[in-house]
Amino acid sequence: LSAEAQAVLEEIDEQNVDFLRLQFTDILGTVKNVSITADQAEKAFTEGIYFDGSSIDGFVRIQESDMRLDPDPSTFSLLPWRTSEDSAAARLICDVINTSTGEPFEGDPRGILKSAIDRADEMGYEVNVAPEPEFFLFEEDEDGRATTKTNDVGGYFDLAPKDLASDVRRDIIFGLEDMGFDIEASHHEVAEGQHEINFTYDDALSTADNVATFRSVVRAIAAEHDLHATFMPKPIPQINGSGMHTHISLFTADGENAFHDGEDEFNLSETAKQFLAGILEHAPAITAVTNPTVNSYKRLVPGYEAPVYVAWSDRNRSALIRKPAARVPAASRIEARFPDPSSNPYLAFAALIHAGLDGIESDLDCPDPVRENIYEFDEDKREEYGIDTLPENLGEALDALEDDEVILDALGPHTGGKFLQAKRQEHKEYLVDVSQWELDRYLEKF
Ligand code: GLN
Ligand code: MG
Ligand code: MG
Ligand code: MG
Repeated sequence: LSAEAQAVLEEIDEQNVDFLRLQFTDILGTVKNVSITADQAEKAFTEGIYFDGSSIDGFVRIQESDMRLDPDPSTFSLLPWRTSEDSAAARLICDVINTSTGEPFEGDPRGILKSAIDRADEMGYEVNVAPEPEFFLFEEDEDGRATTKTNDVGGYFDLAPKDLASDVRRDIIFGLEDMGFDIEASHHEVAEGQHEINFTYDDALSTADNVATFRSVVRAIAAEHDLHATFMPKPIPQINGSGMHTHISLFTADGENAFHDGEDEFNLSETAKQFLAGILEHAPAITAVTNPTVNSYKRLVPGYEAPVYVAWSDRNRSALIRKPAARVPAASRIEARFPDPSSNPYLAFAALIHAGLDGIESDLDCPDPVRENIYEFDEDKREEYGIDTLPENLGEALDALEDDEVILDALGPHTGGKFLQAKRQEHKEYLVDVSQWELDRYLEKF
């Protein structure tokens, strides 16, 4: 038993933990749990816990279904909303192992992100990521089902009493802090009922773990207030959707920010610009991963602070990538503004990292930043500036992914195919559905 695992066992004992949730995600990013009793914890660390992988989306077929979870002791955390003095529950995030080879399962999203991190490591970089997940809080109806009715009428950075949700948000933040999150800021977002909570940057793997945890904590604590928290990208048509801006920088082994160059006009190094160019180059395919639902594309339209055009800027928020102002060299970074919180964070970060590293490896030229509001450009002007648009819908994004070796490789041979298949099916089901909009528009007219 490693010293870290030993320490977890002691903690389990001290905190009166009865149940342990072993956590991993399927390809869609849904958090899956296997619950074990605390007396199984030692066995979980030494032998792993076996489960049936065939019932997990995007994993394996029945005939090859034995999989193993190896808990990562560094991810141990009490679940604050399940904890009292004499009884506690905790979770551990796990790596998924293929039992027939004893190797990490190539379809495990966490493993896929680890491969991206390893590639960066081989190039001499550590990847830091900070996300800005946005979400809505909606009221529940009498049956406890989610509505799209907001429980406040606050606006950007409004404070109580207009921002009625600040109590809930405070509870969410305390819950997250109990779980070891370092919360930097939280505020009411632009739209009614919309919120954002920012946590400190960390290495890419810890941040992806954090995003998965974040979504469950927010939902669990909102539910205690009889509210439904949703990370659906665009729940209400005429107002801002929810994004998950993703800040990225590369550090060298000696702790220097490889993205910073004080001599540069934008304080961005050549490495940063190549990385940025890599993301721009592969943006249409990345979108399939970072914006993986039919609904995602209803957020990526002009006028709602979400990007539509493939360009970068040091100021303006209509661009796909922004260079935020940084007070210290360590904070020089790029902000990808297109990802949304319906994405699987492991796969989303893996796609962004591989695209960026590819930009570095192929010495890509970075285009000039666009400083004007691109929403206001017409087609001619976009052409003159050489600005492409993002895919308009999930189908187009999947076409782009199918044609992009770099991003398909980022997902690995197992998951690339499974992901395309699952998402094509989702899009197909959507296309044959008849929506309320169609009924409203046509039913009485024809
Ligand atoms: N909600 C916007 C989006 O969809 C972002 C708004 C903001 O953070 N300024 O990305
Ligand atoms: Mg923000
Ligand atoms: Mg925001
Ligand atoms: Mg932002």
